[in-house]
Amino acid sequence: MNAKTQSLPFDPEALGRKYQEERDKRLRADGNDQYLEVTGEFAYFVEDPYIDRELERDAIEDEVEVVIIGGGFGGMLAAARLHDAGITDFRIIEKGGDFGGTWYWNRYPGASCDIEAYVYFPLLEKTGFVPKQKYTNAPETLEYCHVIAQTYGLHERALMQTLVTSTDWDEEQGRWIVSTDRQDRLKARYVVHSNGPLNRPKLPAIKGINDFKGHTFHTSRWDYGYTGGDSNGGLDKLSDKRVAVIGTGATSVQCVPHLGAAAQHLYVFQRTPSSVDVRNNQPTDPQWISTQPQGWQDERRRNFESLMTGAPVKEDLVNDGWTEAFRLLFGNLRDKAPSKARLALWALTSPLSPELYRHGLKKYLTDKATNYMDLAREMELADYQKMEKVRARAEAIVEDPETAESLKPYYRQFCKRPCFHDEYLPTYNRPNVTLVDTDGRGLDQITETGIVFDGKEYPVDCIIFATGFEVGTDYSRRAGYQINGVSGLSVSEKWSSGLSTFHGMHSRGFPNAFFFGPAQSGFTATYTYSLDEQSVHLAHILGTAKKQGATRIEASEAAERKWVQTIIDKARLTADFQERCTPGYYNNEGMVNTKPQNNTYGGGPIEFFDLMAKWRAKGDLQGLELR
Ligand code: NDP
Repeated sequence: MNAKTQSLPFDPEALGRKYQEERDKRLRADGNDQYLEVTGEFAYFVEDPYIDRELERDAIEDEVEVVIIGGGFGGMLAAARLHDAGITDFRIIEKGGDFGGTWYWNRYPGASCDIEAYVYFPLLEKTGFVPKQKYTNAPETLEYCHVIAQTYGLHERALMQTLVTSTDWDEEQGRWIVSTDRQDRLKARYVVHSNGPLNRPKLPAIKGINDFKGHTFHTSRWDYGYTGGDSNGGLDKLSDKRVAVIGTGATSVQCVPHLGAAAQHLYVFQRTPSSVDVRNNQPTDPQWISTQPQGWQDERRRNFESLMTGAPVKEDLVNDGWTEAFRLLFGNLRDKAPSKARLALWALTSPLSPELYRHGLKKYLTDKATNYMDLAREMELADYQKMEKVRARAEAIVEDPETAESLKPYYRQFCKRPCFHDEYLPTYNRPNVTLVDTDGRGLDQITETGIVFDGKEYPVDCIIFATGFEVGTDYSRRAGYQINGVSGLSVSEKWSSGLSTFHGMHSRGFPNAFFFGPAQSGFTATYTYSLDEQSVHLAHILGTAKKQGATRIEASEAAERKWVQTIIDKARLTADFQERCTPGYYNNEGMVNTKPQNNTYGGGPIEFFDLMAKWRAKGDLQGLELR
């Protein structure tokens, strides 16, 4: 330890080396190719277990102004914002049996949202809905999706249980032809692609995966017929079953306590432990929510995401485990900074200094105070501090020291999705629960009767794949349909060597198509916030086009080229952090920036939203060609 770090209760250099070791042993040459696509013999993994019966209806031929693909929060927000802008001639096409998107599919026991409901549920001020608790669960989220659908009359304009098979641009008619698996043919002037960034379940390509003769399913298609119970648990049919769960990400952390409580024996197969912090859920104070001033929700989610990107705020409004590392950072900086810098820090966070405040802490430190301290280093130290607490929590809760050690995450908090749960770690104190830690390697083999790791077979009746969703594979493979633009050019062809969009939303050659999602756009932990911003942006563009009498909207070649370059340049800001992270979908399985243009906007979501707001305020849709 050097003199500067002597006062710390941990050795940052030793931790740095440990993080590096843990990362290195997980790096694999096959990256995303280590996963199987759920098609062909694996197609049953994506069947809808939640519909009572298959819908029967005749094929539809129709013409509308807008087709929205996807009935999750993105599709619903697009519809809501278009509705508010006076554009009401739209249809929503959804493959599931109802609205909800990710919340329609992910009904596993314990499914809930780690982001505070007051920021996660969009349109709260419009709908007047009061979430019961600070952190909501899947049933309440689905209920809220229905509230939004009812508020905007979306059910009447939706085609459920309908899979889009292709969208084809007809230049002569200036329309998209949207085809579905029910032989529908919809003509639309505009198409919004809101098909969900984590919609396609993935399976690890483990030797023998097809040999297993027992029962098996993916967490996003939970088989309650087999397990019994519902989203709240009570999986009574598992009392005589030996169950294996593969994966220990955010999903597994939430369902494992219910499986542990119900199964005769539960084996949890872990490759990398999640960071599991306190949940500390609380009921909503109706008095508090009813007395919030107009615009409170927008301020709250902006405050949360600002903190998450290191911008100083007057007050941490959400004040939970997501933002703790940043609170620690600001506290440390205030304590350590010489009086002059402390004064400036106070000025920065003061409501009296909006100008300084806007410039942000980063800029201040870079421009004026670099002599005092290195912000990146300070952030790393605050992160070590935070993760030491997370590791100490595992040690304090889990009785078996070896199991406790295996459950300690050695990477920075935001290398992987952080988790917050009060029952996950205690589950490992149950005599019927075994953690099989594979030390970063993953399983060796699946046999007819069980799972093999390190030469030992674990016989089980059921294998549950909590192995997540495809990210970074071909766009149309994840969407489930092809998009054919001008002269038949497909998105797969256009993006074969890397993404190319303008603001993440438009792509030249695909006029009147609007892409929702994080790619080349602002990515927030509160994902509904990004979707809402995209919806506002969409409504502005279509509203402006309508006023101008324009019916064809396409990104100009120059504007798109410039945006791609911006994404590449900004990707450099996050590359160092990503390269030092353990592999996962956040860092393209460790293959950082092999295609830097495939990143989200590296300047962070708030900078991106402000950029878009400025662009909208100019009113001339610069970079788009309108005809
Ligand atoms: P993840 O991709 O986060 O986790 C997949 C898990 O499977 C990882 O633990 C991974 O290990 C493991 N795995 C993959 N291959 C193997 C293998 N061969 N052997 C053993 N283990 C393997 O998926 P989740 O479904 O957990 O979460 C997906 C996302 O959904 C989250 O990141 C989050 O964004 C969202 N989510 C949000 C929630 C919320 O509260 N809002 C709750 C649940 C999910 P490794 O880490 O080593 O790759």
